[in-house]
Amino acid sequence: MKFGKPSRKISTFYPPQRTLMGPGPSEIHPRVFSAMGRPTIGYLDPVFVEMMDELKELLRYAFQTNNAMTFPVSGPGSAGMEMCFVNIVNPGDKVIVCKNGVFGGRMLENIERCGGIPIIVENSWGEPVDPNCVEDAFRNNKNVKALAFVQAETSTGVLSDGKTLAKIAKSNNAYSIMDAVTSLAGIPVLVDEWGVDACYSGSQKCLSCTPGLSPITFSDALMEDLKKGSRKKSQSWFLDLDLLSGYWGDSNRTYHHTAPTNSLYSLHEALLMLQEEGLENSWFRHRRNHQALKAGLEALGLTFLVDEPYRLPQMNAVTVMPKIDEAEVRRRLLDEYNIEIGAGLGNLSGKIWRFGIMGYSCKMENVMLALCALETVFADMGTATEVGTAEAAAYKAYASHPSHGKIVEAVA
Ligand SMILES: *Cc1c(COP(=O)(O)O)cnc(C)c1O
Repeated sequence: MKFGKPSRKISTFYPPQRTLMGPGPSEIHPRVFSAMGRPTIGYLDPVFVEMMDELKELLRYAFQTNNAMTFPVSGPGSAGMEMCFVNIVNPGDKVIVCKNGVFGGRMLENIERCGGIPIIVENSWGEPVDPNCVEDAFRNNKNVKALAFVQAETSTGVLSDGKTLAKIAKSNNAYSIMDAVTSLAGIPVLVDEWGVDACYSGSQKCLSCTPGLSPITFSDALMEDLKKGSRKKSQSWFLDLDLLSGYWGDSNRTYHHTAPTNSLYSLHEALLMLQEEGLENSWFRHRRNHQALKAGLEALGLTFLVDEPYRLPQMNAVTVMPKIDEAEVRRRLLDEYNIEIGAGLGNLSGKIWRFGIMGYSCKMENVMLALCALETVFADMGTATEVGTAEAAAYKAYASHPSHGKIVEAVA
């Protein structure tokens, strides 16, 4: 037989149990895993349709919006990103795009592929988007259709001011397109209050769900404008908002594509857990664990890439100290402790480590374990690290909080 000839022995794939402290995916609660193993049913089964309605409601809570068109795109965060651009940007449309890391760069590529005219606002990697530069871009360019920006730039761990940027877009009669892939559930994402028109996220970061879904929301005003027919048919059939409204909209659901049923069960469960915990509590949990992780990392002599006011609690980028083999540290964390952390991307490759504490990964036991692991690896590699220093600093940060010992860390 030519194909399928056993050139190597293939058996059931059992991945190791890792502690996931990178840029995503994050760890997944057993409740979410078990939801995925429930019976697959038809994508128009009345019971399934009811679950879809709940899912939309739960997503509205996560995004803090009343937008009717709020649903999970069948595809990863990148699909949500692309969906925004292929439905909003027509050939010749001017779009201001903010670029201060990897993902802003991808937005730019999307605009180019849609035939839009990108107006680039560039800030250094590690710095937030400067609202003054965005104001300038609007002043210097008339008839701008949209402003696109990343709220939480995962490649550097920097937070940009979504509220201010959305406001600038609105006052210039432009739509705002906000990437909330890493931000959703980790820090405030207030779609309605800020007046964001299009916002997408990912299932595998602070929502701690299985990868492959992209929650998305479009403002009612944007949907109205799109319906007025000023736009050309979207270049993408799969991500066409009109066609998808037929499946995810409120009435007369019809087949568009086979929904990833079991993944949607897991998202339903993950969002239910978020609702049970409460959004504010989730934000608080991320902040609290960040404070402890920060104390520990700094006790090891590491410095943050991003200035304090703009740091994302869920994504901590620190600079690699001189004379340390960056990749060797990551390899040893993985081999010896089963811990995954992130490397630097692009220009920052080899220069930073990224410690993600997202969703279910954001818990005291992970922070303490990572610090302990890092310390022992550093000590082995010949740094002047005293083992125990980082945990002591982290513990102090935890213990100094009035709620210490009172709050339940992760949902049990
Ligand atoms: C992870 C990420 C994406 C892409 O999501 P995928 O699920 O990997 O496609 C987009 N934007 C940001 C800010 C991200 O962190």
